[in-house]
Amino acid sequence: MSLSSFDDVIMSNYATPPVTFVRGSGSELFDDTGKRYIDMLGGLAVTSLGHSHPRIADAIAQQSRTLLHVSNLFGTEPHLEVAERLNRLIDSGPGKVLFQNSGAEANEGAIKLARKFNGRGRHVVVSAFRSFHGRTMATLAATGQPEKHEPFQPLPEGFRHAQWGDVEAFDAALDETVGAILVEPLQGEGGVNEADSAFFGGLRAMCDERGMLLIFDEVQTGLARTGEWFGFQHYGIQPDIVTMAKALGNGVPIGAVWARDDVAAAFKPGDHGSTFGGQPLAASAAREVLRVMEEMDAPAVVRERGEALRRRLDALDGIESIRGLGLLLAATLTAEVLEQRSAADVNAALLENGVVANAVNPTSLRFAPAFTISDAELDEVVGILARILENGS
Ligand SMILES: *Cc1c(COP(=O)(O)O)cnc(C)c1O
Repeated sequence: MSLSSFDDVIMSNYATPPVTFVRGSGSELFDDTGKRYIDMLGGLAVTSLGHSHPRIADAIAQQSRTLLHVSNLFGTEPHLEVAERLNRLIDSGPGKVLFQNSGAEANEGAIKLARKFNGRGRHVVVSAFRSFHGRTMATLAATGQPEKHEPFQPLPEGFRHAQWGDVEAFDAALDETVGAILVEPLQGEGGVNEADSAFFGGLRAMCDERGMLLIFDEVQTGLARTGEWFGFQHYGIQPDIVTMAKALGNGVPIGAVWARDDVAAAFKPGDHGSTFGGQPLAASAAREVLRVMEEMDAPAVVRERGEALRRRLDALDGIESIRGLGLLLAATLTAEVLEQRSAADVNAALLENGVVANAVNPTSLRFAPAFTISDAELDEVVGILARILENGS
């Protein structure tokens, strides 16, 4: 049987892909013609330990021959160690974990948990403009990008947005119906936008004063991506709820919600569920991811590799500025470069030349490579980028 073409069988919610990848190893990817690429995107900050990691591959293979799935009506083992490790790494007092299958689902779980904890009448969640929290109806409503809402109105009620980085704006959005604030520690999809400890400290104080929950969406930033185990740890504060997903399974879909003990206790049997959440295959991948990350001291590795990438980008003529934390960086192109071509054009030229990155907005490129990317690979990438910024191809 010959394979159908993409456009004949796949819905067009993504543009027709420019490349079909067939295998990967470490930071290398290979397409269906055998061409090699260096992966500077990690499948959107997912494959933090690189492609085909031997220990993750073995863990998945072994679990698939042992026990794949029985449902959450019964006990299984792999996710217990994952929860234990997450509790330790989040390091914000005693807490409990709920397993889901994706980032959006983790955020849905967090929103439902906040509603259950706060009770009727305090159901409103305030999040930031330019945020991204997922594509399900509730997480789309939480996402602070009104243009994404329009085609799907009416969205679920109970979501408000305030200016990112602006404590007063968040304060002004509050009333007695607000039960939680939901923010990313570093906005990912919205453009790799940073905020500072005054902002996060201000949100924490506001939540303490009014008895609201502070929820960190760490779906993209969690698991060492920013150079701390979790992004909130850069800002000297503690969360009430943390969500994560992307890197947790290094490519196997799994999401999780962590909540402090008394908040977690709001969920009683029957309140929430998931057929697959925390099932043994995904959980065994996550367990091995966390073991490997802890053994390598992933946050320290990310800080060092992040500096190595930043230093190289800093030295390029066509780059105006660099923002982000650890190995979640965005580089804004100079006005001279942007006169000739957009970030999307530069990104297309990178791909043509064997580098996978992402134009996170019209003026900047996003990089989220594996923590294991080598100096030689970074040199190669930056050499190609330098050539493109100079000559356009
Ligand atoms: C990717 C992302 C999500 C959505 O995760 P999915 O697994 O695609 O549902 C939510 N929040 C943030 C911050 C993300 O980066």
